[in-house]
Amino acid sequence: MKRIYEDMAYGDRPIQERYWPSTLDTAPPEYPELDSEQRCEFAVIGGGYTGLSAALTLAAEGADVVLLDANVPGWGASGRNGGLVSVGSAKLEDEDVIRKYGASDARVFFDAERASVDLVKEYLAEFDLDVDRHSKGYTFVAHKPGAVAAVKDYGAEYTKRYDLPFEFVPKEEMAAHGLNSPDFHGAVHLPIGFALNPMKFVFGLYRAAQRRGVRIFSKTPVTQIEQSGGYVLHTPKGRVRAKKLLVGTNGYSSDDMPGALSGRYLPVQSNILVSRPLTEDEIQTQGWWSRQMLVDSRTLLHYFRLLPDNRMLLGLRGSVRVTEQNMAATRAIARVDFDRMFPEWHHVETPYFWSGLICMTRNLVPFAGALPGMDGAFAAFGYHGGGVTMANYAGALIADMAMGKSRRPHPDLMKRAPRRFELGPFRRASLPPAFAWYRFRDAM
Ligand SMILES: Cc1cc2nc3c(=O)[nH]c(=O)nc-3n(C[C@H](O)[C@H](O)[C@H](O)COP(=O)(O)OP(=O)(O)OC[C@H]3O[C@@H](n4cnc5c(N)ncnc54)[C@H](O)[C@@H]3O)c2cc1C
Repeated sequence: MKRIYEDMAYGDRPIQERYWPSTLDTAPPEYPELDSEQRCEFAVIGGGYTGLSAALTLAAEGADVVLLDANVPGWGASGRNGGLVSVGSAKLEDEDVIRKYGASDARVFFDAERASVDLVKEYLAEFDLDVDRHSKGYTFVAHKPGAVAAVKDYGAEYTKRYDLPFEFVPKEEMAAHGLNSPDFHGAVHLPIGFALNPMKFVFGLYRAAQRRGVRIFSKTPVTQIEQSGGYVLHTPKGRVRAKKLLVGTNGYSSDDMPGALSGRYLPVQSNILVSRPLTEDEIQTQGWWSRQMLVDSRTLLHYFRLLPDNRMLLGLRGSVRVTEQNMAATRAIARVDFDRMFPEWHHVETPYFWSGLICMTRNLVPFAGALPGMDGAFAAFGYHGGGVTMANYAGALIADMAMGKSRRPHPDLMKRAPRRFELGPFRRASLPPAFAWYRFRDAM
C-alpha cells in the first residue's frame, strides 16, 4: 500500500496509551479475518463511521453487504477521537463556501451539516446506544483578547446559517459559567451538537451492522482492487467479488487503494491528552466545572471537555511526523498547554496520550461521491477533523448514491472529486511551513 506517513502511523503504537478502552463495560466486538471467497452486491472498505454508516444504510434496504477492515474494530480515527459531535466539516469560512460554490449549493451544504448531527442522534436512538453523552451544543472560546470579535462574528454567522440564537459570554462572566481560565477571553455558546464516547459509538455501530446482516471481516487489508465488470478485492487470504464498491478509509487511505484516491487526500495528525479524574475540590479551585465541549479560536485549535468521570480531555493539532521523538515532543506541548489553560491543575497527572490521522482535501470541503474512472465505485473522506458527525452522514450519502437514491441534502460541492494536492506523495511537506505560519498567527 502506498501511504504517505511513517509506518508507525499505521501500527498500534500511537494508541498504546489511549483512554477509551478503559471506559468499556463490555468486551469489544470481534470479527473473523477473511480466508475465503465472498460474493456480494456491495463491498465496503473501512470499518470506521464512514464505512459502517454506508453499510448500515445499504443493509437497511435489504442489500447484501461485505465490510472489510485492515485492523480490529475501533482501531482508526473513529475509535480514537475526542467525541465532539457538531457542524464544522469544512476548513472554509461560510463566506468562502458561498463565494466559491454559490449561495444555493452552500445552503445545501449547511443543511447537510445540520442533518449530519441529526443522523448521529438517530443512530443513538435507533440502536439504543449508551455513549456517555453530555454538552448542550458547543462553546467557542477566544484564545486572546484580539480574537473576541472573531468569536462573536462566528456566533453571528451561525445565526445567519441556522436561524438559531447564540449566547455571548464576556471574559468577566466566564467564571460564572464554570469556564474560569486565564487563557480564554470570551466565549459563545452555540446550540447544535453534543459530546459522546467515540469508542462506545463505533462499537455500537458495528453491532448494529452485524444485526442487519452485514458480513464483517477484521484484520483484512485490501491489497489489490481489480475492475472486471464489478470489483474483485484481494486480501492476504481471501477475495471479495462485488458489483459495487464503497471506500471509507479517510486518514488511513493509500494512494493505490484505489489509485483514483492518489493525491486527493492529506492525512494530518491530531493528538489527545487525558488527565486522571479531578476531585470536586480541584474542580472548584480552578473554577472549571462546565460540561460543555469547547473549541478555541486558534487555527491550530484545541478541543476539550470535562468528561463525565471528571477527567479533562484536551485535543490539539500541529505535529507532522509520526515517530517516538515526535510523540514525546507533542505530549510535552500538550502538557504545557494544559498547565496554561488550567494552572490550578499543574499537579494533576495526565496518564493518557495518543494520536491519529484526520483527513483534509485540497478543496477544503468533504467529499462524498463517485470515484473518477471507476464505474460503480464511491468514496467519502476529508472531514477536516469533524468526522464524528460528517463521516456518518457522508457514508449514508455514498450508500444512497450506490443504490441510485437521493433522499438527503447532498451538495454538489461534496460530489466533486477533490483536486489533487501538489507534491504528490510528498504532499505532507506542505504542512511544516503551514503549521509554522499558523503558530505565528495564533500567537500574534
Ligand atoms: C485524535 C483525533 C481526535 C478527533 N476528534 C474529533 C472530534 O472530537 N470530533 C469530530 O467530529 N471528529 C474528530 N476526529 C475525526 C474523526 O474521528 C474522523 O473524521 C472519523 O472518525 C473518520 O471516520 P472514517 O470511518 O472515515 O475513518 P477511520 O475511522 O479512520 O476508519 C478508516 C478505516 O479504514 C481502514 N482501512 C484503511 N485502508 C484499508 C484497506 N486497504 N483495507 C481495509 N481497511 C482499510 C482502517 O483500518 C480504518 O479502520 C478526530 C480524529 C482524531 C485522530
